[in-house]
Amino acid sequence: MARPSYFDIDLRALEQNVRLTKDRAANKKICAAVKGDAYGHGLIPCAEIIAPHVDSLAVAFCEEASALRQNDDSTRIVVLEGPFDLEDAKFIAGNGLDSVVHSAHQVDLLLSAQLTAKSTIWLKLDSGMHRLGLEDDEITAQLKRLESNNHSNTGLMSHLGDAESIDSAMTKTQLAQWHAAVDKRSLPTSLLNSAALLHAYDAKSDWVRPGIMLYGAADLPTRDETPLRPVMHFRSAVMALRWINESEVVGYGGRWQASKPTRVATVAVGYADGYPRTACNGTPVMIDGVECPLIGRVSMDMITVDVTELPSVAVGSEVELWGNNLAVNTVAQHAGTIGYELLTRLPARCPRRWSR
Ligand SMILES: *Cc1c(COP(=O)(O)O)cnc(C)c1O
Repeated sequence: MARPSYFDIDLRALEQNVRLTKDRAANKKICAAVKGDAYGHGLIPCAEIIAPHVDSLAVAFCEEASALRQNDDSTRIVVLEGPFDLEDAKFIAGNGLDSVVHSAHQVDLLLSAQLTAKSTIWLKLDSGMHRLGLEDDEITAQLKRLESNNHSNTGLMSHLGDAESIDSAMTKTQLAQWHAAVDKRSLPTSLLNSAALLHAYDAKSDWVRPGIMLYGAADLPTRDETPLRPVMHFRSAVMALRWINESEVVGYGGRWQASKPTRVATVAVGYADGYPRTACNGTPVMIDGVECPLIGRVSMDMITVDVTELPSVAVGSEVELWGNNLAVNTVAQHAGTIGYELLTRLPARCPRRWSR
């Protein structure tokens, strides 16, 4: 039994990306995002590679932290969304985890959960993204409450909503709000994500929180001094080949129609394997190392590709859906989404293989 479709996860590339990220971060502390099953790359295998090089790992919520803790009882872990209920708060307190708090309610929960000095509480400032976070005066109030409960292990954090564009009005507003809040307090700070780190933002951030760059999928023009390598390689193979005549159509709904005799390769991968159904005609697919256009609708288990220009293609020819030769972000652009989404919603059906 060997359907030839896999996600190959290159842990050596991951380790190299972590080292490059460390260089990039200079002497800032690193809190590496491994939420979303390490952006689809596998929480435990990736955490084992990343943890020795960084100061902390970050997950979104407690169930993710719990999965990490079962495998590693020493690495610092930040819970980015903080506790949802008292049970979460007790888990955070009991395991000495660090937690972001975005509301007074979360401070209530943590204070009723016998928080110890081990846990850093990161107060989240709403610097203008208006998704989560406290206003500046609420930060002051919650800091007072924590202090009067003998908890002084605190920090200030915020998140940028448009970090890819350093010149955007949103980024400028957020940085101004951030510095206004940071400058009047002497607390550890944490702001920069991958895009902000790659752009070398001149912003106060004792800690940086890279995620997507660790996995080699940051969607920024590559600079030669940061050759981050894709960690995930989505591979399959050609399972059938045929010629069709001019005006014949391909796939569901006959979305693609041949304007000349065309050789069609059918590849053993579909949307149930994590390839996006919204990929349009012309989405690049690498076959035997050559870029060929997707034609017709993506099916559940298969896609169809125009290989007229590639006479050497045979059943069994290697296919790369994304990876070293084709950026996941390029495929995402053709499918109306972003690399983050494609990486984080891999179905269990298509096996992942980890290699070092
Ligand atoms: C996911 C996340 C990050 C990492 O963002 P990247 O764009 O992947 O670098 C940083 N901070 C917070 C709060 C996050 O939720």
